Amino acid sequence: MTLSPKISIIGGGLAGCEAAWQAAGRGVAVTLYEMKPHHYSPAHQSPDLAELVCSNSFRGESLENAVGLLKNELRCLGSLFMAAADETRVPAGGAVAVDRDLFARVITEKIEQHPLITVVREEVTKLPSGIVIIATGPLTSDLLAEELRPLVGDNLYFYDAIAPIVTADSIDLSRIFRASRYGKGEGADYLNCPLEQEEYERFVAELIAADKVAPRDFEKAIHFEGCMPVEELAGRGVETLRFGPMKPVGLTDPRTGREAHAVVQLRQENRQATLYNLVGFQTKMTYPEQRRIFRMLPGLEQAEFARLGSLHRNTFINAPTLLEPSQQVKGEPRLLFAGQITGVEGYVESAASGFLAGINAARLALTEPLLLPPPTTALGALVAHITSTESRHFQPMNVNYGLFPPLPGRVKKKERRAQLAQRAQADLQGWWGESRGDVR
Ligand SMILES: Cc1cc2nc3c(=O)[nH]c(=O)nc-3n(C[C@H](O)[C@H](O)[C@H](O)COP(=O)(O)OP(=O)(O)OC[C@H]3O[C@@H](n4cnc5c(N)ncnc54)[C@H](O)[C@@H]3O)c2cc1C
Repeated sequence: MTLSPKISIIGGGLAGCEAAWQAAGRGVAVTLYEMKPHHYSPAHQSPDLAELVCSNSFRGESLENAVGLLKNELRCLGSLFMAAADETRVPAGGAVAVDRDLFARVITEKIEQHPLITVVREEVTKLPSGIVIIATGPLTSDLLAEELRPLVGDNLYFYDAIAPIVTADSIDLSRIFRASRYGKGEGADYLNCPLEQEEYERFVAELIAADKVAPRDFEKAIHFEGCMPVEELAGRGVETLRFGPMKPVGLTDPRTGREAHAVVQLRQENRQATLYNLVGFQTKMTYPEQRRIFRMLPGLEQAEFARLGSLHRNTFINAPTLLEPSQQVKGEPRLLFAGQITGVEGYVESAASGFLAGINAARLALTEPLLLPPPTTALGALVAHITSTESRHFQPMNVNYGLFPPLPGRVKKKERRAQLAQRAQADLQGWWGESRGDVR
């Protein structure tokens, strides 16, 4: 009798279940460790695997949004997550939403009944030997986080502090100026939105009055010094932001020859310069309020938000520093990370990350070459961003068209997304066909 190659997966959430399904589908025996029902994170409640801890929506279906494309790609690639989503779908307009209990039940049954998957209900506190995928999510247990310390060092974070990101082509460049403070760096690294005194004071008043997201019980202890929400800074006094993230000193507007009363700086987020973040603008304002208030800023009136701001309890690693594009740990190729702990943000993104980790862990066990999706696909663009973006300011990211390599030549803005989606679909077919990635 020949024994199947084996891998271990820690965490039976969205990423862990997808990874287990993909690996087992390729003939690899999987031990999937899940700490529920013996131990629950502060947000998990059900003993089932693949529990949705908050919304029951997987966001839009249309290819106008990159998350729609990502779901489409996962469907084409034979994802368990998408099969269960389609099986348990409830009406939700243009979104894919599911009956959460049914969704978790369907996945739990499929995983538990798979002849090559063994589910072990225990909290992992020591890394198993052999090939291991760590998919313990944003609320990884404390004991495992401690065990990961020697592996990840200071590159393990427990809270995200996310500033909004806007797409470059939605910024009105006629209203802003390029400059670095005191001309440092390349001299013009930042885009600066200048505000006159009246605009500034109106903006500060709106920040203070805005609707905020209430912290969950387990998030109340978040220590905000160093990543204080912008609206809390605003509440400390009208001048506070002018001495913090809206400091105008050293930024002369070439159009007026003087410093503005206050400035919001936008910093390039990715190599392609398709995305910019609002520096220091992490926030707990609700999403509609963020859209309304940040569009008051000069140059951002038509801003398209690739990501909105937040502050959460969220365990994640600095993936660009620690991971290879295959999601293997640099220098420890037997260990892979998957899901939200890698810095992807969202249910669909976590499952997508699990999909790739599962395939690659299986290929590693089978001594086959590993697979990387083209960066022109939603799956490839997401994982390329996570593993290769600038690591100093790394914060979690959801999939969006700003992560994709630009199209060659000039393309009208309203046609761009359709063309990016078309290119992605063609490249995915080509890649998957060549990889002979068919599920057994
Ligand atoms: C409170 C909260 C709300 C969120 N709401 C949304 C939302 O509405 N929409 C959205 O798209 N995204 C949301 N997210 C973000 C993210 O999409 C989800 O957390 C998603 O479930 C992440 O998938 P995952 O597989 O990485 O982790 P999880 O789905 O959390 O799976 C991790 C699993 O690992 C287990 N585990 C942890 N430590 C151990 C251990 N040591 N040993 C064994 N098992 C362990 C956990 O019990 C859990 O089952 C939310 C996150 C949080 C924290």
